[in-house]
This record gives sequence, C-alpha cells and structure tokens, in this order.
Amino acid sequence: MKITDIRATTVTVPLEAPLRHANGCHWGRFVRTIVEVETDEGIIGLGEMGGGGESAEATFRAMKAYLLGHNPANLEEMRFKIANPTASLYNNRTQILAALEFACLDIIGQKWGVPVYEILGGKLQDEVPFASYLFFRYANAKTGEGEVRTIEQLVNHAKDLKEKYGFTSHKLKGGVFHPTYELECYKAVAEALKGDSFRFDPNAAWSTEQAIWFGQQIEHIKNDYFEDPVFGLNAMRRVREMVRIPTGTNTVVVNFEQLSANVLNPACDVILLDTTFWGGIKQCVKAAGVCETFQLGVAVHSSGELGIQLSTMLHLGAVIPNLSFAADAHYHHVTDDIIEGGKFEYKNGKIKVPNGAGLGVKLNRDKLNQYNELYKELGGYNYDKDPLRPDWCPTIPNTRWADENDDRIPQI
Ligand SMILES: [Mg+2]
Repeated sequence: MKITDIRATTVTVPLEAPLRHANGCHWGRFVRTIVEVETDEGIIGLGEMGGGGESAEATFRAMKAYLLGHNPANLEEMRFKIANPTASLYNNRTQILAALEFACLDIIGQKWGVPVYEILGGKLQDEVPFASYLFFRYANAKTGEGEVRTIEQLVNHAKDLKEKYGFTSHKLKGGVFHPTYELECYKAVAEALKGDSFRFDPNAAWSTEQAIWFGQQIEHIKNDYFEDPVFGLNAMRRVREMVRIPTGTNTVVVNFEQLSANVLNPACDVILLDTTFWGGIKQCVKAAGVCETFQLGVAVHSSGELGIQLSTMLHLGAVIPNLSFAADAHYHHVTDDIIEGGKFEYKNGKIKVPNGAGLGVKLNRDKLNQYNELYKELGGYNYDKDPLRPDWCPTIPNTRWADENDDRIPQI
C-alpha cells in the first residue's frame, strides 16, 4: 500500500465561552487542522493538529515530497523521513508527524480490520476516565452566558460539570488572577466537591517561591498532582523539595531527551503525555514504557481536541497499563465536532474507546465544510493575547495579573 495524497483543511469550531489561561485566551473557538492521507487502495486515514491556516495546510502539502509512495505501515521510517532528530532539528515537525501518524494508524487499522488499540498491544480498559477541565471564562459575547470569574461562578460551574458528565477528578487552570485569589478559588472547589480529587495548573506563571507558598497551602487537599507551577526542570525540582504534592508537567518533559534528564535528576513525578506534542500515539506508548520502568506517573494532556484527536487519546488511554490518573480534555467546552454521529459522549466521567476499524471515527463532510467556512470568515486569533488587555503580554514569572473584579465581555 502506498500514500498517494495528503490533504489538510482548517476548521474553526465554537466553544461555549472564551477560555482564559496564563498566556492569554482561547477566543471562543478552537482552530484545528484536519488531515486526510489517501492511499492507492482507496483507504483514507484521518489526522488532526492544533492551529491551522494557509501555512499549516502548505506544510502538510510539502510533506508529499517525502511521503508520496511511502507505505503507511512503516511508521518508524516515516518518523525518520520527516522528523529525524538531527536532520530536521530546526524544522520542528513533531506535530506534523503526529497528525500523519494518526492518519497512518487509521489506515493500517482499516486495512487490517482492527481498531488502533489492537495495533498498539490491545486494550486494557474499555473506557477512559476524564477530569473536568475548569477554566476561568469570559462570557460568550453572543449570549452573555458562561462567565467563570467569581468563586461562586467557579463552584457552580464545577458542580454543573460533575452533574452533567460525572467527573470525579477536577483540574483548575489558573495563572490568570493573582495567586492569592486563585488559592481561594481552588480551596472552594475542593471544599464543594469533597471526596473527589483535584489538580491545579497555572501554566508555569509563578516564581518558584510563589509556587512553594501556594503548594504548601494546598497540601491538605486530595491533589492528583501540582502541574507546572513553575517553568524549568530546576525550578520544578526546587518546588518538589519544598511541597509534599507530586509535581506534574506537560511543559518541561515533552520529549525523550527531557524525559531522560528527568529520570537522571528527578524534577517531575507525573508526565502528561500528549499524542500531538510527543509526535504520535506510538511515541506516547514508548514514553509510558520509560515511565513504567522508572516508576514515574503518567497522565494524558489535552491540547484542545476535536473527535479525531480525542480518539487518539482514547486509544492511548486504552493500551497503557500505567495511566493512573483521569485524562485531561477540553472537549466538553467545544460545542460541536466534525465526526460522524456528533460528539463523543461522557458517561460517569468516562468516554468509551471506539471499537471501529482504525481510529474508529469518520469525517462528517458537511460539518468539515461548515467549520472550514467559519474559519475563512473569522480567521485565526492570538492564543497568547488577552482580548481585553491588548497591551499585556505573558511574562515568566508573571506579576501583572488580570483583575477578578473586571466583568467586561470581549466582543470576539
Ligand atoms: Mg498543563
């Protein structure tokens, strides 16, 4: 079997409300690139990558020079063809590779008539548990609804998500407001949902001393881990020495070089694997194996997914024996999907691993066209800018926090 074409389509899918984070904001929508890899046998495999637009689409087109005629089953060779760690050192094609790997696994699965999890060693669980992903949110400009800014709004939002989807683990994305205020927010959520477990992630916006102070204030809470309170392996190591909560990261251990550094001189206890940022599902399975060997914890990171990427997270979660935490997903904030049958459903905080051949998802072409049109209408946005603070930029550590009393609604 040979690859005969690679196509990429940018889509924009609305969120319930803009999601605020330490570096800025998701401006009320996710922009994603949907990738289709076609073969001489007529099988089409699906991939997905964050971001999009002309440059992303052109990058995938450029990969045809490397991959037309390539056998999609030769995944390791594809890695070296387009993302050899020395030859493509400055091209940074890891995310491109990931989207193409998803598509190739989807093709192999369809060819063999088996789900991707069977190619990867077989599933150990039928469903993958997810954490609620709590964000501070601006209100939706169209409806005026969905704001999460006050402690009361946050607690109600957390309770609402638990009620609706059944989550028993909750992640609060912080780094937006002053840490003193966010500490009160986190404690209030933990108090309101006693018995559940919690994790806090300020996207490394704090100084090390601030992180140590915050961490020591929350040691009594049932924390899964303390995610990226600071930036850098050494800063994480300093926090780990002073705070009795496992540290977690999706920032400073995102490849095998960093993983080896972290094994030799531990800074992070829990590694959040991301099927995109690590270069594919297989790379995550390998990394989970290293973590198993050195007894590091494993969780699953979310980079803001639609159904194709979510499926890769489900197959990953199904096959690794050491996934000991609920996975992260932004998915419940997204209002629609581009796959047949609509959005995946949560039941008791879990999503069923798809059993169809390949990734087990098919493109809904009407939705693909609809959200491609929406992308053309709205264009991209600056993820690392706050729409209501145009002169602000994120620094590490940050000292210029958003105002928790500011209830304006960005017209985006
Ligand atoms: Mg994180």
